[in-house]
Amino acid sequence: MKKRSVELVANPPEPHFVGDGFRVHNFIPSGFRMDMQRMDPFIMLDYNSKYHFPASKKPKGVGVHPHRGFETVTIAYKGKVAHHDSSGGGGVIEEGDIQWMTAASGVLHKEYHEEEWSMKGGDFQMVQLWVNLPKKDKMSTPKYQAIKNATINRVTLPENAGTVEVIAGEYNGTKGKATTFSPIHMLNVKLKKDGRANFHFPAHFNTVLLAVEGTVVINETDNLPTDNLALMANDGEDFSIQATTDAVVLVLSGEPLREPIAAHGPFVMNTRQELVEAFDDYNNGKFGYLED
Ligand code: MN
Repeated sequence: MKKRSVELVANPPEPHFVGDGFRVHNFIPSGFRMDMQRMDPFIMLDYNSKYHFPASKKPKGVGVHPHRGFETVTIAYKGKVAHHDSSGGGGVIEEGDIQWMTAASGVLHKEYHEEEWSMKGGDFQMVQLWVNLPKKDKMSTPKYQAIKNATINRVTLPENAGTVEVIAGEYNGTKGKATTFSPIHMLNVKLKKDGRANFHFPAHFNTVLLAVEGTVVINETDNLPTDNLALMANDGEDFSIQATTDAVVLVLSGEPLREPIAAHGPFVMNTRQELVEAFDDYNNGKFGYLED
């Protein structure tokens, strides 16, 4: 099989705050090299690199806001996130957990540091990814998949190299628990120093690697330092990573939907008209009600 090369390695962009609780580097979409079409179906990736939040009696976060047309995937590496939505749903995403929220036809929610965690403060680190939905599923019923760390299917790598947590899709025959609307592989790869892992995805699947902890070398040639993101080219199927320190790497690979994208703020649809409808529905209270 042909080797897949590295297209670019991106430093973390200057961080900004989402609300007052998420200090994020917005890797996707950025510029023309990592715009929504190039990264399809991964249309947004905000990375809160490890950051210390001091103790706060009032939990920090982001207030009530809507989403429509896609899924939000929140991966908590450090700290805890609480969420509530207008249908009465809610929960806590603890360290190592993943919340896969299908906003689809519309969700109104708020996301905060979990109350007890906030009272103590501490290191906070997380990823929020937006996965686009196929046109036929954009107006489907919202749902949640709360994936607790202990229930994630794992692959033990040979030669004591580490483990792969399979969140979605599959790795070496082990399948992830998350159900997706289009083919997506989402892996949390935990390598020991010098540990190596090999990957095989169809060449046309758009693929990115985020170094959450430590440093790895891709294909024995390209360095991926902590908090950097590598975009892989679509020129082959196989690549490898080898850790130069103990490392955690988030690996995302998805089949592009190749549908038109009309995006504005919290709505990602296929046409401008659908965006107008989303704003109208939101303004007319069709997303429900949630107290701030
Ligand atoms: Mn949100």
